[in-house]
Amino acid sequence: MYKVENYIDGKKTSISKRFLDIFDPSTGDVIGNVVLSNKDDFLNLIKSSQKSQITWSEFTPLKRSRILSKYKELIEKNMDELAKLVSSEHGKTFDDAKGSVTRGLEVVEFACGIPHLLKGEFSQNVGKNIDSWSVRQPLGICAGVTPFNFPAMVPMWMYPISIACGNSFILKPSEKNPSCSIKLAELFSEAGLPDGVFNVVQGDKEIVDLILNAKEISSVSFVGSTPVAKYIYETASSKHKRVQALGGAKNHLVVMPDANLDQAVDGIIGAAYGSAGERCMAVSVAVAVGNIADELVENINLKAQRLKIAPWTDSEAEMGPVISKEHKLKIENYISLGVEEGAKLLLDGRNYNLQGYENGYFVGPTLFDNVSKNMTIYKDEIFGPVLSIVRVKSYEEAINLVNNHKFGNGTSIYTSDGEIARHFSTNIQIGMVGVNVPIPVPMAFHSFGGWKQSLFGDHSIHGNEGIHFYTKLKTTTSRWPKSINQGPEFVMPTN
Ligand code: NAD
Repeated sequence: MYKVENYIDGKKTSISKRFLDIFDPSTGDVIGNVVLSNKDDFLNLIKSSQKSQITWSEFTPLKRSRILSKYKELIEKNMDELAKLVSSEHGKTFDDAKGSVTRGLEVVEFACGIPHLLKGEFSQNVGKNIDSWSVRQPLGICAGVTPFNFPAMVPMWMYPISIACGNSFILKPSEKNPSCSIKLAELFSEAGLPDGVFNVVQGDKEIVDLILNAKEISSVSFVGSTPVAKYIYETASSKHKRVQALGGAKNHLVVMPDANLDQAVDGIIGAAYGSAGERCMAVSVAVAVGNIADELVENINLKAQRLKIAPWTDSEAEMGPVISKEHKLKIENYISLGVEEGAKLLLDGRNYNLQGYENGYFVGPTLFDNVSKNMTIYKDEIFGPVLSIVRVKSYEEAINLVNNHKFGNGTSIYTSDGEIARHFSTNIQIGMVGVNVPIPVPMAFHSFGGWKQSLFGDHSIHGNEGIHFYTKLKTTTSRWPKSINQGPEFVMPTN
């Protein structure tokens, strides 16, 4: 049993006496507990973040970049330990956890280029002897609230860029798997980051509400479910903060009759069942167009049955448990609902029993055929290893289906026809699009974000969007006093 506290001003600390259990999803055992911070913790936090931000913003971008480079090295050195912390509290396979830390590390790599990324614009002689330039300056204190499904990667989408821009950053990670955030903060201190620039506060809605309402905090980045994303966006923006709030998803993968069937099946299997379907870019709907449907369904069914389901400690595991007992129940209820609503259940993951891990939160791979757009299992985000097949007659029907869904995070098309692929990527109403790529997650130097109910706010996350989100633009127009004084002007100057 271990205790997870806050990391404030370079120290582990907590005042609140409220704690929550942390579970091992593979066994159902309580393995630790985490503090649920209160107002007193919050006051300490704000004091530390305010003090550190002023000195940190005065570090030259090059100096900040050198600390980030050292941080990158330390993350690489501690990769296995970080991945172990992710797997043990999340349940995902060890290799998948390592992959997710690497995707976070790539954001640190991107942020190392901050001297270049913050370069402004300069124009000489915008008027006679007048020059003008633009710079991007830090916001002040930024905050991030993150979900359980990527305890390293999603926080790392945010704080390396925010800190590189000269802000101090407060992270409120998921209370379900908080340990990795502390290790990430300790490594940043070891890399030379001054105390208080990166603080981690643990907790639930109580601490999130304090963040949303604090006048000292300038921006909130959120990733999580859509109802909470909407709440965060509305509350924080009503307090005049800059907000980016990324929500849930229902990602469709369209398979055209001319697709490479084996590639499409492998793409769907990995994207639907990897990480037990608990990815915001997981494929939860496969749209089979025309006569490819029977063969597609048959192949998915065969491959899904062969998946190796095991705890993360088994190096051959391809799919682990879901996050909690409550979430397992919720997924199983959706499966029952799908049956009641008339979908054809080909593979049933309910009551999955893994020998030796009977109390773990395992759900078997589940496959529904003949799903239609008015069914609840089609409309809702299930966030588990449940794949729905929707059969359509034509490409037009497929694209309309995807465009009419309320979520707009990711989508993909499998086809050999370049013209169809181009039409799809141009006309689809979704933020991230794949062509013969199942999970089109943009790299750190591009930006990540969905449309519709999958993102509230104007900015996607990381890449140039991240730099813009975490900085304010300032434009200066300047003339030196020795130039000739022309007297007062009463009309708009023109050249
Ligand atoms: P969640 O919304 O329950 O929790 C996310 C964070 O919000 C946590 O830190 C939690 O403590 C906090 N929170 C929860 N309820 C709150 C409330 N009422 N008020 C204030 N704060 C609250 O999400 P989750 O279950 O941790 O994560 C899964 C969800 O995240 C899925 O919907 C998934 O699609 C989504 N997600 C989206 C993306 C994306 O990029 N769009 C990425 C990863 C996960």
